[in-house]
Amino acid sequence: MDQKLMGFRCKSCGRIMYPKHERCVSCKGMNMEEVELGNQCTLVTYTKLYTLPEGIEMPPLTLGIVDFGGVRAFGQIATDEPKIGMKLRPVWGKLRRLGDKDIYGFRFEPVESG
Ligand SMILES: [Zn+2]
Repeated sequence: MDQKLMGFRCKSCGRIMYPKHERCVSCKGMNMEEVELGNQCTLVTYTKLYTLPEGIEMPPLTLGIVDFGGVRAFGQIATDEPKIGMKLRPVWGKLRRLGDKDIYGFRFEPVESG
C-alpha cells in the first residue's frame, strides 16, 4: 500500500491546507485540488499525552505539528525522543482501535540519518 499524504490547494489563491477545510482559510474559496505534501517534514512542536484517547495502547502518546515547507499537519509522532527540528516522514498505518473498528491514518516517523 502506497498511501501519500495529500493536502488541498485552493484554486483561487493557491493556499495549501491540511486537513481539508470546507472553505479556503484565506479567501473562503470552495474550489480545492489535492496536492502531494511530499515525504519529508520537520517537527515544529510536540506534546506528550499521558492520558490517552480510547483505543491507544501505549502511553505516552506524542502528538506534534510538522511542517512541509509552509504547510502544517498535526498527528502522532512515532518516537520516544522527539526533538524540535528533526526530520520526519509520514507513514500510513493503524493509529488506534475504536470499538471494533481500526482507525487508520498517518503518523510521522523519524527519518534515519546516515
Ligand atoms: Zn483561497
